Amino acid sequence: MTEEAENLDFISNPKVVQNYMLLDEIGVFKHFDKLNKEIKNCKNLLVAAVDVFNKTTIDEILDAAVWKISDQFLPSFITFLWRPHQNKEDVTVKSYKNYKLVDMNVSIQAIASFEPFFRTYPKPIAYDIFAFQVKDMDPATAQGLSDLNPELLIPIMGPFGLYGIVLIGKKILAEGYTPDELFFLEQLMSFLSQAVQNNLHYEHSVRDVKTGLYNHGYFVTRLSEEIARTKREGAVSSLMVMDVDKFKNFNDTYGHLAGDRVLESLAFTIKQAVRTGDIPSRFGGEEFTILLPNTPRQTAWTVAERLRTAVAAMKVPWDPPLPQVTISLGVVSFDNQTNATPDEVITRADEALYQSKENGRNRTTVWGAGLLFKIQRSRNSVSASA
Ligand code: GH3
Ligand code: MG
Ligand code: MG
Repeated sequence: MTEEAENLDFISNPKVVQNYMLLDEIGVFKHFDKLNKEIKNCKNLLVAAVDVFNKTTIDEILDAAVWKISDQFLPSFITFLWRPHQNKEDVTVKSYKNYKLVDMNVSIQAIASFEPFFRTYPKPIAYDIFAFQVKDMDPATAQGLSDLNPELLIPIMGPFGLYGIVLIGKKILAEGYTPDELFFLEQLMSFLSQAVQNNLHYEHSVRDVKTGLYNHGYFVTRLSEEIARTKREGAVSSLMVMDVDKFKNFNDTYGHLAGDRVLESLAFTIKQAVRTGDIPSRFGGEEFTILLPNTPRQTAWTVAERLRTAVAAMKVPWDPPLPQVTISLGVVSFDNQTNATPDEVITRADEALYQSKENGRNRTTVWGAGLLFKIQRSRNSVSASA
């Protein structure tokens, strides 16, 4: 039975009709209205929580929260100030108006000065009161906040302190925020902070800290899945492995920190080179892999060569400037005819890589059936062995 049908059933009960005046006088109907409203609020909150928890990226989580807030009441704007790295100060800003992402030119660069206050008062607070209480904000932040003139500030708190702040503008249609709405916002933000923490933990578990690429474990899992998928669906996919040339010498000459910076730049170059759906990973040390779903050997080779050329031209930010580094690559393809385990596919790609090293480095070798390196090219030469 729906809520309305239940209400109607109750109201039209002859005994209720008979005692209507009495029930009204002692406030039974008002009490029911209040309970119904509270149940509705709880349901809204529950639906909002499930929605926010079901999202897998931080952007999706924020979008879901914006929709839930805007469904309850339409604020003139919602701005998220977000610390993507807990160990750094920079903030990411996302603003929404009328459910849509907009650029509001928010000039707040850091939210560190908000932290002490919200550690002791982790709740939504009116901007006027916040500005009155927190006097030691850096001038740029204070100015940025005053330019925006939000009605409300809501902290997003996590185990490492303040993850972010949500600034909410005045309501478009009504005056001020009611205690129920403040309660809704506070609870929604605590769900949001949990959802974000889950996301951060997940990201930490699949990514390599130094480069931000996927880690070895995630790569191996995805490779197994991809091999199974190519068998099932008759697709052809490729695996590319690469290794920095003479990197031990490089470290010995320029130091490990410079070496680390090279690996970070290399990871950035790899990210630029891949398409959505490709899976770039740090295999370990100075070795990287890219899994290329639905990519035949020839295309994989083209991607490998483009990457090799980009790395050879890469500028690593370091003072004094560092010499160019190069990489050697091995490529292998697999489809439903390939009867190989993930380890065997990796071994084939490694054999091709080894061949690139043997033949002088800074080149790509494609693994051919029967352990033959069919295509093997370098910047200056094209050679094939059968
Ligand atoms: P090759 O061209 O045959 O690959 O020569 P190589 O010197 O690169 O090969 P080798 O495997 O002997 O050395 C790999 C070096 O990579 C050794 C290690 O110092 C360096 N390395 C591995 N991981 C890291 C890292 O995270 N940071 C830095 N700076 N260096 C690393
Ligand atoms: Mg190596
Ligand atoms: Mg190497």
